[in-house]
Amino acid sequence: MTLHIPFDNTYATLPAGFYTAQPPTAVKAPELLAFNAPLAALLGINATDPADIATVFAGNTVPDGAAPLAQLYAGHQFGNFNPQLGDGRALLLGEVIDQSGTRRDIQLKGSGPTPYSRMGDGRAWLGPVLREYVVSEAMHALGIPTTRALAAVASGEPIWREQGALPGAVLTRVAASHLRVGTFQVFAHRGQVEDLKTLTDYAIARHYPQADGPMGLLAAVCAAQAELVAAWMAVGFIHGVMNTDNCAISGETIDYGPCAFMDAYDEARVFSSIDQQGRYAFGNQPRIAVWNCAQLATALIRQMDDMDAAVEDATAIVHAMPGQLQAAWLKRFGAKLGLSTPTPEDQPLIEDLLALMQTDGADFTNTFAALGTDTAQDQFTDRAAFAAWNARWQARTASEPEAGALMARTNQRIIPRNHRMEQMIEAAVAGDMAPFQREIAALATPFDPASDPDLMRPPTTQEIVPATFCGT
Ligand code: AMP
Ligand code: MG
Repeated sequence: MTLHIPFDNTYATLPAGFYTAQPPTAVKAPELLAFNAPLAALLGINATDPADIATVFAGNTVPDGAAPLAQLYAGHQFGNFNPQLGDGRALLLGEVIDQSGTRRDIQLKGSGPTPYSRMGDGRAWLGPVLREYVVSEAMHALGIPTTRALAAVASGEPIWREQGALPGAVLTRVAASHLRVGTFQVFAHRGQVEDLKTLTDYAIARHYPQADGPMGLLAAVCAAQAELVAAWMAVGFIHGVMNTDNCAISGETIDYGPCAFMDAYDEARVFSSIDQQGRYAFGNQPRIAVWNCAQLATALIRQMDDMDAAVEDATAIVHAMPGQLQAAWLKRFGAKLGLSTPTPEDQPLIEDLLALMQTDGADFTNTFAALGTDTAQDQFTDRAAFAAWNARWQARTASEPEAGALMARTNQRIIPRNHRMEQMIEAAVAGDMAPFQREIAALATPFDPASDPDLMRPPTTQEIVPATFCGT
């Protein structure tokens, strides 16, 4: 064994009721599909032999120092509380301190059943594994907090889903932690106040050491979630399953399931085939972030001695969130228009452009990327309306000498387009990893105007993927 991971585990030292310790279930024939060598270096992982990498990140060999465990949590799924969820197909291998001094979880996803698997098989198939790999790495390159992908290993075993038998795979992901709103909910719901306090202290020490007590933690998480969701909006990202168990305390994007970047701008856009009500539609994401943080508040106050005061404090903190979201949104969308210090007076300029884009189905990424060039108008059918807007914008940016530079580093040129993700998965299932490699390479520099033109192109009518399925 040539692979060395410098584990330094803390979650495994928490009370036994927080998790179930167990090893991964070995797979039949591990084959390394992808390995993120720069990320491995950042984590201090010493790995050279692909066979060793495959066997460790398939879960067939438990590396020295690992303390594999499935974490317990609960969560609101599409608004309904589920009192017990947990890692049903994931295992925390352990933690490392990365080169920047940040503690990181290393987690296998698709590593076999656990006590929290319910009816599931504990496995993942290749499609969602590669999708999460590419989309999370794209998110990272866009500068948005996210879990990352370290490895993808084919299992050599078939996985049964609605579509039939599919190739199995294991994803290794890296996160600032896997603490979720739902991790707090499980102990609050059960009335395990001591455990709730232990978890709160752990979360503060790990993520927000400056936070003063549970309400300080709540305020920090609310602020982080407001920033995160504003960042998603500014790149046209739809998470798809913003359940409270998929909402990380760290403020990282987590659990890439039926997520997607928008092509044509549409406030009401939904990709997840199971989101029939549009709860997690693009334009609803800010409201849902507030709702999720209200659930965190409800859980956290269970440990407070003075409940009335705690309710008052928590309410004020959660009520501040729409304002934080609005401010973060204005800053980000202002920057997309080249405005260094946008004010509320600039809001109509932003909203009017989005309204035109909505009406004309303009491509989100390509419209912002083209602003200020002759091709911007090509995104619109009502060119007169766009020309009128453009004149207002030109007038406003006349006093912004750095507008072009700001826009160049704010408006992405390339996103993991949904139709490309589908094509990539189809190729990978057939044994061709070249489209995956091509996406990974191009998405590493999303602001580069000389990006792969073919990958920048929106889908043709035939290529449009109407939905992504939750059969992950
Ligand atoms: P998700 O919505 O994908 O975040 O998953 C919600 C819950 O279902 C989590 O507790 C997962 O661990 C669990 N889960 C999802 N897929 C599977 C599976 N194939 N086997 C076991 N548990 C699963
Ligand atoms: Mg989840």
